[in-house]
Amino acid sequence: MHEKFTGNFTQQQPLPEEAIEAAVRVMRHGRLHRYNVVDGEIAETAALELEFAAFTGAKYCLAVASGGYALTAALKAAGAKPDEKVLTNAFTLAPVPGAIANAGCEPVFVEVTEQLVMDFDDLALKIEASGARFLMLSHMRGHIADMDALMAICEAAEVKVIEDCAHTMGAEWNGISSGRHGIAACYSTQTFKHLNSGEGGLLISDDAELMARATMLSGSYMLYDRHVAGAPAETFADIRLDTPNCSGRMDNLRAAILRPQLARLGEQCEAWNARYRRIESGLCNVSGLKLINRPEKEAYVMSSFQFLLPDFPPNAVLEVVGTCEKRGVELKWFGADQPTGFTSRHDSWRYVPRQQLPQTDRILSGLLDLRLPLTFSLEDCDLIATIIRQEVERVFQGDPAPQG
Ligand SMILES: *Cc1c(COP(=O)(O)O)cnc(C)c1O
Repeated sequence: MHEKFTGNFTQQQPLPEEAIEAAVRVMRHGRLHRYNVVDGEIAETAALELEFAAFTGAKYCLAVASGGYALTAALKAAGAKPDEKVLTNAFTLAPVPGAIANAGCEPVFVEVTEQLVMDFDDLALKIEASGARFLMLSHMRGHIADMDALMAICEAAEVKVIEDCAHTMGAEWNGISSGRHGIAACYSTQTFKHLNSGEGGLLISDDAELMARATMLSGSYMLYDRHVAGAPAETFADIRLDTPNCSGRMDNLRAAILRPQLARLGEQCEAWNARYRRIESGLCNVSGLKLINRPEKEAYVMSSFQFLLPDFPPNAVLEVVGTCEKRGVELKWFGADQPTGFTSRHDSWRYVPRQQLPQTDRILSGLLDLRLPLTFSLEDCDLIATIIRQEVERVFQGDPAPQG
């Protein structure tokens, strides 16, 4: 009755053997810097950019040091100026408002809906009130807004969209890859994302000037012609002199371990989604628990799972979190007063002027989140769902916690 789960929620899979071999090859030749190439050689980093551009269908790709760096570079390269207001989701992860602040800009938060995507009525209001020219749209935890409707609102108001695709690598809206709706998109290859190089980021765009600026920002010196998925050389004529070098390059070692992972990303996405669906079916019809509805036009890639306990007061949510933890199931609560681990909330980013977001606060106060690493089997997912179901139902009915 009171089974425990013993898996580790932060243990990712080992890297594939080809990735390990590729890393060893780079270490043996020693040319780890992306611009350190022998005659005619295409560096691992440049090859990764070419392959990632092809994967997304973008014209250009730039590999950088982190997802957060990619977001800042995209915003600056798109022309955002210091002190400018930039719209973003009120429900996102710290690197997103951090990237806006790093560009010298000020985040303006837009409310989220119970589907965990941007609220379009609030978006329209905030566009009007802020006069913002940019929206940094976070597809937080892999939930994609209706991109046709969102782009229509932004295009009508001449707001440019930069997509944060840290959780949507390989996902689609209405048949179009996530990251191909806005003027640029940013991805992370940090360990807990869909590709793992420890740290890393990728920026894609079809805009040659934006990419040339981002490339110079990333610390390209005058070696930008060693890119193969970069903007054409003539684009750099003035940009190479007008853009500061804010070094944030990716190196060949990380690119080498990413390329074999990218080649099998499709398979991995299937495996994540199978785990997601297993948890989802295990949590159907649980009293007090609300699942996130997934629109038909959305092709998601879910490496985590979210659900709502909309009517639970904070002490009841805490009780669910506490008893699940005792049974080995790590739930993250987005409604806690204090930021913990990777989880924080808009009001804990105190460098941003305080904003009233009652709808987001209400939703986050009942939002729970769990990771689904591929080291979990489908049977593990069944057990995790069983434990959550039992604990939610128990707390919902007001029954005492099991002893021992
Ligand atoms: C991880 C993440 C990023 C980027 O993170 P880095 O650690 O800088 O690579 C951006 N947005 C979201 C929503 C994320 O989860």
